[in-house]
Amino acid sequence: MTDLTRMTATDLAGLVASGQTSAVEVTRAHLDRIAAVDDRVHAFLHVDTEGALAAARAVDERRAAGEQLGPLAGVPVAVKDVLTTKGVPTTVGSKILEGWRPPYDATIVQRLRAAGTVMLGKTNMDEFAMGSSTEYSAYGPTHNPWDTDRIPGGSGGGSAAALAAYEAPLAIGSDTGGSIRQPGAVTGTVGAKPTYGGTSRYGLVAFSSSLDTPGPCARTVLDAALLHQVIGGHDPRDSTSIPQPVPDVVAAAKLGATGDLTGVRLGIVREFTGEGAEPGVMAAFRESVDTLAKLGAEIVEVSCPHFRYALPAYYLIAPSECSSNLARFDGVRFGLRVGDDGNRSLEEVMSLTREAGFGAEVKRRIMVGTYALSSGYYDAYYGQAQKVRTLITRDFTSAFEQVDALISPTTPFVAFPIGARTADPYQMYLADLFTIPTNLYGGPGISVPCGLSEGLPVGLQVMAPTMADDRMYRVAAALESVVGTFTPPAL
Ligand code: GLN
Repeated sequence: MTDLTRMTATDLAGLVASGQTSAVEVTRAHLDRIAAVDDRVHAFLHVDTEGALAAARAVDERRAAGEQLGPLAGVPVAVKDVLTTKGVPTTVGSKILEGWRPPYDATIVQRLRAAGTVMLGKTNMDEFAMGSSTEYSAYGPTHNPWDTDRIPGGSGGGSAAALAAYEAPLAIGSDTGGSIRQPGAVTGTVGAKPTYGGTSRYGLVAFSSSLDTPGPCARTVLDAALLHQVIGGHDPRDSTSIPQPVPDVVAAAKLGATGDLTGVRLGIVREFTGEGAEPGVMAAFRESVDTLAKLGAEIVEVSCPHFRYALPAYYLIAPSECSSNLARFDGVRFGLRVGDDGNRSLEEVMSLTREAGFGAEVKRRIMVGTYALSSGYYDAYYGQAQKVRTLITRDFTSAFEQVDALISPTTPFVAFPIGARTADPYQMYLADLFTIPTNLYGGPGISVPCGLSEGLPVGLQVMAPTMADDRMYRVAAALESVVGTFTPPAL
C-alpha cells in the first residue's frame, strides 16, 4: 500500500469515505511517522495519541453506521499550541503556561472536531507567537525538514515543519505579522492567512488582537482551501468575527488548478524593490511572475508608498497590544506561580512569576509596548503608528482599484541557520518585511511554493482584498499547477 503519510488530505479523505482505508489506519501511520522523525524535527510539543485514536475510531464508527462524512473526515491535523484544546496541554510555547490544560476548546478546534478531522497534537511555536524562527520557544527550536540545522520559520514553525516532514497532512497556524505565510515559504508548504475576522479568535491566546488571524496550513492549495472552509465563518463568540459566509475558496482553488488566469490582473508592488532580499529569492519570484503571465494573467506595477513604514508601525502596534494582553499572566489565574511561600505580597509573586515565566523576546515586547502606550508618548508612538496603518490600508484600497490581487515574495530570505539571527532582534524582524502590510490592512494573504534558491524553498505571496480570499487561492493554485508541490530531501 502507498505510504499514507505522503498523500494529500483530499486523497486521504476520499480513501476513508470510500472505506478503502480507515481513519484509524491513517492516524496510526501519522503517529508512527511522528515517532520515527520528530526527535530530529521537534514539530510537536504534545502528541495526543489516545485522543487522536479515539477521534479516528469515532469517524470509522460513523462511516460504518452509514453517516454522511464531511470533506475532511478522518484526516489528521496538527494544531499550533496557541489554540486552547479542552483537557490537552496548551503552552503557547511559554513556560508561563506549562502544565495548563484549558477547560474549553477554541472555536476552530471545535469546528475541526465537528468536521471529523483527527487532532494529532499541538505544535511548537515562538513564545506567544513572537518571532520568525521558532527559536524563541521556551521548549527548544523546531528544525526545518529540508535541513535540520536551519529554522522552519516562525512563529508557527512547528505546524509547517510537521507538514514538510510528512508528520501531518494538515495544520493550523496563526498569523499576526506573517507567522503562517513565512514558515510556509521556508518549508516549501502552503500557508494562508484569511481575512481578519474571517476565522474566529475565540480560544486563540491573544498576542495582538487587532492583527491575530488563525488559518490553514497544508502541502497543497486545495487542501488549504478545504481546511479554510472547515474552520472559517462567523462566530458570535468573537466580537470582530465577520458575519458573512467564507468566500468559496474551494471552488477558487479548483478553478485555479485548471491553470487559466485569463482576465486576472496581478499587481507587483513597486516599493518592494528587492532591497534586503536575497538575489536567489528575487530570481525565483521573477520566474514565477513570468509563469503567471504565461497562464494569462496581466501583470501591472502598482505603487504602495507607505509599505516601507509597515515594519516600524507593526513593531509599535503589536507590542502595545501584547503589553495589555499579556497582563493576564499574573501567576494567579493560569499556569506557573513562583515564590508563593506565604511571606510574599501578591505583587512580589506576580513579579517573580513573570520574571521566571516569560522569555527575553516577550519581555522586550512588553517593555516596548508599555513605553509606547505611556502617557506623554502615546501620541508620538502608538498614535503615529495607527495613522501609518490607515495610510497602508489606503495603499491597498487604491491598489485593488487597479488589480485583482498583489504578488510578492513571501519572505526576503530562505531558511537561515539556527542561531544566525537571534543576536540582533531587528535581523529577525526583517523576515516579515513582505507579510506585515497585509496584517495591518486586514486582508488575506497566501504563500505558495514557487521555486528553490540554494536548494531551499522560496514562497510566492498573493494578497487579496478583504473578504476576497477566493482570489488568492485561484492564483496560488494556478502557480502550483505549473510548479508542483515540494518534497524535502529524505529525512
Ligand atoms: N514575526 C512577527 C513577530 O515576531 C510575526 C509573528 C506572528 O505573525 N505571530 O511579531
